[in-house]
Amino acid sequence: MKLCSLCNKQIGNIKHHTSYLPQELILVCSSCHNKIHRGNLKHLNPSRRMASIFYSNKGWIRNKVTGKVLRKLTKFELEIKKAMKNGKN
Ligand SMILES: [Zn+2]
Ligand SMILES: [Zn+2]
Repeated sequence: MKLCSLCNKQIGNIKHHTSYLPQELILVCSSCHNKIHRGNLKHLNPSRRMASIFYSNKGWIRNKVTGKVLRKLTKFELEIKKAMKNGKN
């Protein structure tokens, strides 16, 4: 059994996507999961398409919880990032 990655108190039995590209999952408890989806923890909710690319620093994808560098953005993803910065949507 793993503990919730947010509160570290309750059992984390819900897989929540913090990002879809790349796919990042965290294990959270139901009360923290509710908080995420009520909008209290917006940075953990991939409300915008490929938000992780938009917010990633200098072309590096980081795990939002640990801050650990996961990998470098691919050429294709850098193009998306550029497009998102320029575009209004
Ligand atoms: Zn929790
Ligand atoms: Zn969720």
